[in-house]
Parts: sequence; C-alpha cells; structure tokens
Amino acid sequence: MKLILFLILFATLLASQAFASEIDCGTIEPIEANRINYRSLIEPNLILAMTDERVLKVWNDNQRFDLTYCISDEFKDLKERIVEATDFATQEWMRYANVRFIYKNDEDGNCNHKNTNVLFRIQIKKNRRTKYRGRAFFPGEVQEKRRVYLKKKHIEDHPRDMERLMLHELGHVLGFRHEHIHEDNPEVCDEKIPDFEPLTDYDQFSIMHYMQCGGKNRTGRLSNFDKEGAEKAYP
Ligand SMILES: [Zn+2]
Repeated sequence: MKLILFLILFATLLASQAFASEIDCGTIEPIEANRINYRSLIEPNLILAMTDERVLKVWNDNQRFDLTYCISDEFKDLKERIVEATDFATQEWMRYANVRFIYKNDEDGNCNHKNTNVLFRIQIKKNRRTKYRGRAFFPGEVQEKRRVYLKKKHIEDHPRDMERLMLHELGHVLGFRHEHIHEDNPEVCDEKIPDFEPLTDYDQFSIMHYMQCGGKNRTGRLSNFDKEGAEKAYP
C-alpha cells in the first residue's frame, strides 16, 4: 500500500485562519515552477506559492533555514522530556527536509505570544479537558498563533509518546497536512478544508496519518514516503 504527504494548498488567505487547528495539516506535489507565482504575504520574510487561486504554504528560502523556537519553562519537571523529544523530531525532519530548526533556550523563560525573538513557541496546555494531545500551525500563520501546544495530561500519562507527537506536530509546522484526508483513503476522515495536493502516493504509514482513520504507523517514526515528501517540499 502506498502513502502520501500533502502540502498545503489554500483557496484563500482567509482560509488560513481555520488552519490553526491541530486537525488540519497539509502537503503538495511536485510543483511545476512555471505554474507558480511567488508572492509575499503576511510577513516580508514569508512567501507563499500560489497556483491559480490556490495557495501553497511552505517556508521560503530565507525562512526555512531559520526556524527558531523556544520551549516554555512552564513545562517545569516535564520540560526535559519535551526538550529531548523536540531535539529528536527536529533532527529527523532536518535529515530529509532542507530546513534548519534552531532551539533558542535563552527564550524559554519568556516563551509566550509576545516573544518575537523566536519564530514559534512550544507551550503547555494544562486544561485536562482539552481534546487534542498536540496542536500546531502552518507556514504563513501570524506571529501570535505560531505555537505548538502540548497537553500536560498526555505528557504525564504517555511520556514515551513525545517523539512521535513532536514529529507529527512539526510536520504541520513544515506545512504537511493529515495523510488520512487523501482521496485514496477508504476510511471517512474528512476535514473541513479540502484543498491540498499530494506529494507522494497515499501512505497509511505516514506520521501524519491518524490511527483511528486507518493509519498503520506503529513505529512512531517517519515513513519512507514521509521522507520522500519532505525532500520534495524542501529540496
Ligand atoms: Zn495533526
């Protein structure tokens, strides 16, 4: 069975507001350069590729080598686990995607939405009723919303799941959507925003595939198609 990675294609910039949810993540297929017009949107250092009315969200050549982040001190005794898992996940993605994540630990004590010294923050969600284990954002999101939230209860109950979770959430940060929205997935797991293009064939083993939607990734690691998609998105 084959799999896919999707790059995010958005119908409009407005649509990006709805992408703050962890439920959404995305991907693309080899884009033909002559079909794309690059245009600066939102921030001067971010470029979104657009085809017709659709927008493809990836970090541009300036930003992708400067993906700075902090990890909030509010994780307290759980922080060490998150630092380790994030280091693992960033190293894994950087093996295949030509990007550079940079941990700025001197910003950890001030790792909140007002901090403009980092591109994004990794923060804790203490509400036990929160439905998601992790939540991320896509390239192009405004500064205040560029954060990865991790549920405190989940870290406490499943500390060994953090590597898998960080791989998944950082996949969103790079622009990858959930694999299970691929049209070749027989399971019904629709997400509200349909626009995307596959980077690879459908991949049940993708780290971006929910298990409850037919996913088969039991290793918690990047699949072969995840690696291939990462190389295509960020050559
Ligand atoms: Zn997700």
